[in-house]
Amino acid sequence: MDARGPAGGMPRRAFLAATLGGLAVTLAACTDGGPTPTPTPTRTPAPSPTPSAGGVPAPEAFLRSRWSRDPFTRGAFSFEAVGSTPELRRALAEPIADRLVIAGEGTSSDAPGTVHGAYAEGVRAARTIADLADEGDRIAVIGAGIAGLAAARTLADAGHDVVVVEAGTSLGGRLRTVEDDAFGGPVVLGSVFASDGAELRPVLAEAGVATRPFTPNVQARTPDGVVAEPSPAGWEAIAIAQEWAAGNSADVSLTNALIRSGAVPISGEPGADGLSPRDWLVNAISTGVEPTTGAAPTRVSAKRFDADMVWRPTSRVVSGWSALIDRLADGLAIAGSSVVTTITVGDDGVGLRLDTGESLRMHRVIVTASVGVLKTDTITFDPPLPLLHQRAIGVLGMGASDVVWLAFDEPFWRADAAGATPTDGTSGDANVFTLVGATPTVAAWLDVGVDPRRPVLLGILAAEHARRLAELDDDDALAEVLASLEPFAPR
Ligand SMILES: Cc1cc2nc3c(=O)[nH]c(=O)nc-3n(C[C@H](O)[C@H](O)[C@H](O)COP(=O)(O)OP(=O)(O)OC[C@H]3O[C@@H](n4cnc5c(N)ncnc54)[C@H](O)[C@@H]3O)c2cc1C
Repeated sequence: MDARGPAGGMPRRAFLAATLGGLAVTLAACTDGGPTPTPTPTRTPAPSPTPSAGGVPAPEAFLRSRWSRDPFTRGAFSFEAVGSTPELRRALAEPIADRLVIAGEGTSSDAPGTVHGAYAEGVRAARTIADLADEGDRIAVIGAGIAGLAAARTLADAGHDVVVVEAGTSLGGRLRTVEDDAFGGPVVLGSVFASDGAELRPVLAEAGVATRPFTPNVQARTPDGVVAEPSPAGWEAIAIAQEWAAGNSADVSLTNALIRSGAVPISGEPGADGLSPRDWLVNAISTGVEPTTGAAPTRVSAKRFDADMVWRPTSRVVSGWSALIDRLADGLAIAGSSVVTTITVGDDGVGLRLDTGESLRMHRVIVTASVGVLKTDTITFDPPLPLLHQRAIGVLGMGASDVVWLAFDEPFWRADAAGATPTDGTSGDANVFTLVGATPTVAAWLDVGVDPRRPVLLGILAAEHARRLAELDDDDALAEVLASLEPFAPR
């Protein structure tokens, strides 16, 4: 089933119902038959009947995202690839010919790759465009993710004539949330965390988005299921590499810095517990660097990687994002299933061409397509974007990450499986499970059940593992993720 469909279509909003051509935009109240469904990479499969390889029980339900296959996101979030700087993100946010502004998590120089960074950038772009706009200007916002909706809301509230053009059939972009009773609540297929951000916090509260503190309490187990005594060896090697990189004028990849700083080769000699410093470096990379950036260390900037972002205390969105998305979108004119293919910036306005062949003539435009989409030829800019914008798009990375939700009968991974309730981490019980001593397919498993009667695990896939599993069909992907749960199975 299409996970873009169930929660989230586009109820209660206005759609572009008739011709989009020329200056006359006809708006009509939404009906369910409004947008036509587009092919989607995310599905809600029934669990395979006998997927368990060993001691892992068959799950009651399985849901996953496949962001790298989504033609309108092309990945999960931008990351600091080699050569990335905050200046590049600021350059990408610069207005073009006073008519076009790019916004989204990718243009955030202080909180890239985050929900609150995207929200703040949407508001920023709206203010920039509002300053440039003349009385009565028509403004288009491309993309109905949080940045686009924040921009459109800000403009509409200030009395501007604004229309949102969205390629997909639902709102929220990478905050996609679906309802599924098997999980006992809403299932978020993008960001499950509401990263702190002063600007976003009151908006979440007003919309009634429920969050819970999440203090990661990470446990590493060996492939044999033995709980390992944590070692700092991996993060120490990364710190040596980053210290070396800070003193080097040119940026290099984390892998390169590990080698050139002498942090590797690192001992592969097993200690009494059978684990070597090399095992802990692999653990730090695959369960820390990769899920944080969505990329392999061969691509991540050694200067800019921020180890403080790894498994830090945060808030988890337990109600899903729909209330926020609905509130931002309420009353806006939104055209769904409308892919913008060409943006022509002229002296007297901006022309938008859609994949349907229709055209829109606007005065100003805000583009919130992800860095991943901007790297492709999904949207042609005429004239081409200025060189600094092109450079930013070329240098910034687009990381791959996916979530896998599994609901079980029993919380077999908890220490006291019989009557245990989910933990927020503060009690000292483990709520993040990782593998050491082998390279994991699933970077980490998070115990995110809210209702104790419905034990739920959230798997985080990252980098090449996310890209590879996104290409597998549901049965094969499920078999792989269950196999990677084996170390946490009862024995
Ligand atoms: C798996 C995953 C985990 C994450 N974890 C976290 C986390 O822990 N903490 C955190 O803060 N953030 C996290 N994020 C990132 C966060 O979700 C994003 O930064 C944020 O949602 C991006 O919002 P946006 O509006 O910039 O982009 P998007 O949500 O991508 O919105 C852009 C919209 O533009 C539309 N579009 C694209 N091209 C076109 C076109 N040609 N025509 C019309 N429409 C178009 C798209 O369909 C989309 O709806 C995570 C994301 C993912 C996927």
